[in-house]
Amino acid sequence: MKTLSERDKAILWHPFTQEKTADNPIAIQKGKGSYVYDETGKAYLDLISSWWVNLHGHANPVIANAIYEQALSLEHVMFAGFTHAPAVTLCERLKKILPSALTRFFYSDNGSTAVEIALKMAYQYWRNQNENERTLFLSFEGGYHGDTFGAMAVGAKSGFHDAFQALFFNVLSIPFPATWDDDQALEEKESASLAILDRYLIEQGKHVAAIILEPLVQGASGMRMCRPSFINEVIKRVREYGILVIYDEIMTGFYRTGTLFALEQIQAVPDFLCLSKGITGGFLPLALTITTSSVYEAFLAEDWKKALAHGHSYTANPLACAAANASLTLLLQEGTQQAIQSIQQAHEIGLATLKSNAKITQTRLLGTISAFEYPSVEEARDLKAQCLSAGFLIRPLGKTVYLLPPYSTSSEALNATYETILSHVTRK
Ligand SMILES: *Cc1c(COP(=O)(O)O)cnc(C)c1O
Repeated sequence: MKTLSERDKAILWHPFTQEKTADNPIAIQKGKGSYVYDETGKAYLDLISSWWVNLHGHANPVIANAIYEQALSLEHVMFAGFTHAPAVTLCERLKKILPSALTRFFYSDNGSTAVEIALKMAYQYWRNQNENERTLFLSFEGGYHGDTFGAMAVGAKSGFHDAFQALFFNVLSIPFPATWDDDQALEEKESASLAILDRYLIEQGKHVAAIILEPLVQGASGMRMCRPSFINEVIKRVREYGILVIYDEIMTGFYRTGTLFALEQIQAVPDFLCLSKGITGGFLPLALTITTSSVYEAFLAEDWKKALAHGHSYTANPLACAAANASLTLLLQEGTQQAIQSIQQAHEIGLATLKSNAKITQTRLLGTISAFEYPSVEEARDLKAQCLSAGFLIRPLGKTVYLLPPYSTSSEALNATYETILSHVTRK
């Protein structure tokens, strides 16, 4: 009889995968806590939180129950002309936590669409006020915002979308001053970025609709981190030209960076905040684009043409909203905060031991995210294979190795991960 992996290989096409060279996928039968288990019962510690979505561990019974209960009363209803308690409650709760300027919530169902919506809102915001010359966007080199066309256009310099460059709208891109422990050239890199931004602003500032950025950490391009003071400097400058600000916190949200949202570590408040990934604790697809009353009001008119003509069939799915409400409750419990702190501490200790080996460079840490550069892409690939066979699920980005575990992960499990990495790097 064929295995599940073989049946998969015969029929499926996987995301971000070169199907010709990829190994057969590992068939996962169940998940519990920070582990997923394959067909043979082998456990893998999920050190990338299943593409950054999982917060409280797999198959968390509190969230599972919330979905079940919700499914027995209302599984879905269209969100134009209708509403329901899970959707309203979630936004009310988030509004209490977020900066007071962020007051309007628009649902969708994945990170890319949350970004598309922010871009469309920003663009139409200006058109609705007859400022038709604001057609450009600003973004950062290495910024990744999703795989739909608008999101790809603002992420054009991420290296993920090269095949489609000819189809993108115009975006001005700023070099990102990525930094790490003991970085000597940080000031220089930041000044160079700001100088380029200044030039764009002088030449084309009045034509820019919005800037989009991943605050504090660029995820997909390799967990590249920057200082909060740099973002404040950027926002201060673009504000002088009336440019709207979009924070893409799809990866950084929900305590990944140590605070509930990365924006808490930055003074500047955005006009748009995009959330997804961790919002349901990793159970169901859901996203929010959150904006200000001043953006919202620019869409209010007798004329239907001023409305935002955007929506998805599964907008504000009640099951996903119920999962998000349950996840938020878990997230705000004291135990979770302590778990997040002990993950950060385990990272600190682990990175310190790795740093003693000269082959590991550019160590960096923010909240529950740790990252460093491995000697080469080939060796990082070998490390991945080695870790997988030892039951540690990692997925390096090129030669960047990073660990981004669910909050259910113990210090012991993280220590064991760092030991496995250390033994791999010292082996040669
Ligand atoms: C993953 C990600 C996206 C895209 O989200 P999807 O749900 O995969 O479409 C957008 N922005 C950032 C920062 C991300 O990490």
